[in-house]
Amino acid sequence: MFCGHCGTKNRNDDHFCGICGAKLPDPQPEVIYLEEKPLESILDNSSVLLLAFFFFALAMIAIISVSSITKDLPSSNKLEGIPSHILY
Ligand SMILES: [Zn+2]
Repeated sequence: MFCGHCGTKNRNDDHFCGICGAKLPDPQPEVIYLEEKPLESILDNSSVLLLAFFFFALAMIAIISVSSITKDLPSSNKLEGIPSHILY
């Protein structure tokens, strides 16, 4: 890399310029190659099944909770519909 102070070319792993002693910027990391695995290899069959089951269970829980809420709603609506002098 080049010294930002005097322009001397230094080794990439040098922290200070060999000529003027100016601090060199931190060496840029080599281009990091993320291990780009195809989705199929990450999600092998067993994890896909597990994921599918997880979402299925989540959907079931959601359906059950929604249906129980909707079941409760009419009674609570009826309660609200009743004038307060009857309730008390
Ligand atoms: Zn320098």
